[in-house]
Amino acid sequence: MIEFLNKKLFRFLTVFLFLNSSIIPVKSSSALAAWVLKKDGVLELRTKSNTNLKAYFQNANQIYGDRFWVDFPGELKKPRKIKGNGPIKEIRLGKPNNGKTRLVIEFKEKTFLKPLTWRLVGLDQNRWRIKLFTPKFSFDEIGEGVVEERIKTKAKKRSSYLRKRVDNYLKLPNIKQNKYSVVIDPGHGGPDPGAIGIGGIRETDIVLEVSKIIEKLLSEKGVKVLLTRKNEVDLDLPPRVSFANNADADIFVSIHANASRGKRRDINGLETFYYRGWRGRLLAKRIQKQILRVSPGSPDRGVKQGRFYVIKNTRMPAVLVEIGFLTGKLDARRLEKNTHRKRIAHAIAKGILEYLSKVG
Ligand SMILES: [Zn+2]
Repeated sequence: MIEFLNKKLFRFLTVFLFLNSSIIPVKSSSALAAWVLKKDGVLELRTKSNTNLKAYFQNANQIYGDRFWVDFPGELKKPRKIKGNGPIKEIRLGKPNNGKTRLVIEFKEKTFLKPLTWRLVGLDQNRWRIKLFTPKFSFDEIGEGVVEERIKTKAKKRSSYLRKRVDNYLKLPNIKQNKYSVVIDPGHGGPDPGAIGIGGIRETDIVLEVSKIIEKLLSEKGVKVLLTRKNEVDLDLPPRVSFANNADADIFVSIHANASRGKRRDINGLETFYYRGWRGRLLAKRIQKQILRVSPGSPDRGVKQGRFYVIKNTRMPAVLVEIGFLTGKLDARRLEKNTHRKRIAHAIAKGILEYLSKVG
């Protein structure tokens, strides 16, 4: 429910911003129930449901400053003026003619409004919002009545919004089936356990499990997934690279977990490395963003360039993901949990799919 100001009409003074279908009888009371002009310059309105709204803007003339007004059906009982502050000179509620209500916002001089960018947006059946200005200095909210919906419906709305957000987060994007191949490289293996963390937690185990979940998730999306290792074997770095190069994979993702020098428990965080190219960098960014989302509180150590052998020598966009510090108190406690390993795998898969859908 969005209408843009029409540029041409705008010059001729009045512009019609929004119109709804039904019409309220002339004799009824004002359809404007509450309004507020908030600190950030947003005007919010609450009206009767299915109200027929019209909004206008007029440039300053000799009598008035710039004015924005909205006409509502239904008669206003008590016309009134409210003193403004900041860029607002005055707000008037009036009765332009019988059976009508008009809310006028008059601006002070030189407020540099940009009415061409204004949009009056219907939030739901009876709420509206329009951003009129960005205050340069402080502006105190002005309003009458309660614009927000009743608490009950609000809570209901919020929970459905949250549910939607969770659904969206769990959803993996769809991409073209059977088009892409991805090499997932679980770091270390066999005699090389990688980092050993708090309580003896081993990098090789964690990254293998995460890699296998990624394999499953991507396969379900029609991606061909190749793992450089599927069990605890000793695998040097060059064979990992030649495996990926020979497979002519679209991307290469090496999965690792970190350890800090001196096994400091206060060092936690996630980081993703690439070696070269905007593709590698983009892939790293997508993955980093997703793994951070499932690791609240764990520091973002960023997307960085790194000279690791496996990402330096692979020919396709390649990244190395560090999914947390096994020596860090926060990360280790998480990574030893099966649910978190699943979340991390899901996040990496999501980052990969986002990249593939974007770059291909
Ligand atoms: Zn490692």
